[in-house]
Amino acid sequence: MADDKSTTAVVNMCAFGAKWLKPTRIEFFLTSKAAVTAQFAKMKCKSKRQKTKGKPTICQFSKEEHVLLSGLDGQKKGGFLTKAAQEYPRGLCIAIAKAHFGG
Ligand SMILES: [Zn+2]
Repeated sequence: MADDKSTTAVVNMCAFGAKWLKPTRIEFFLTSKAAVTAQFAKMKCKSKRQKTKGKPTICQFSKEEHVLLSGLDGQKKGGFLTKAAQEYPRGLCIAIAKAHFGG
């Protein structure tokens, strides 16, 4: 899949304001590698395990527990959390636009 015209960024959604970690791979085509690196190099969460086993990890960005993507979304009736998590956070959309257009 990857060739010399593509650059891959691996990010975590929590870096862009989401409550979950959700590792996500974004493939850019014809976008400069430097621009992609500038936007996404530090967007992977170095989350910390909690002392109690089975508890969610603590987010490097929000300093709060990551929400585990399992079960139903308490805010939307009957919706699965994984469905809520399919949307890109606004900050990620802006970073993608900046990588494409510079700035
Ligand atoms: Zn995090």
